[in-house]
Amino acid sequence: MKLPLAWIPLREMAKPSAEHYDELMQAALAQARLAQQAGDVPIGAVIARGGKIIAAAHNRRTIDADPTAHAEMLAIQAAAKALGDWRLEGCTLAVTLEPCCMCAGAIVLARIETLVYGAADPKAGAVDTLYRLCSDERLNHRVEVISGVRADECARLLSDFFAAQRDAGKK
Ligand code: ZN
Repeated sequence: MKLPLAWIPLREMAKPSAEHYDELMQAALAQARLAQQAGDVPIGAVIARGGKIIAAAHNRRTIDADPTAHAEMLAIQAAAKALGDWRLEGCTLAVTLEPCCMCAGAIVLARIETLVYGAADPKAGAVDTLYRLCSDERLNHRVEVISGVRADECARLLSDFFAAQRDAGKK
């Protein structure tokens, strides 16, 4: 008998594959496109556990006029609500852009097991680029990091968005 993935206890699951991470990134990219349609910077995130997506969100900083409304923060809040637990142990978070200080901090606090991100962020990246918060030995939790998944596609979405904004004469 074949059980749906979500029913298989985590310890019995095989190590997630590159295909799984790619699927998660495709779902995060779909969220990023939703942000763009809503007029916000196209960044999307999903959280999966046991092979199943339990939360999805996109950046809403402009829409909500909220500097903390990054895709990762909203996805973490939704996942914690769905699980009824602030500890997101055994969860994988996939996001189109390297997380900032706030989001990398929240990922550590939420005890996310694996972070998958697309494009690196030279201006604010706090996982590999400017800081290395997810692997800092001084903090009480370390996160496995997989970077560069569909990086070009993730970056292109952002560069196209900002190019269109410049063309429209916005700043
Ligand atoms: Zn952030």
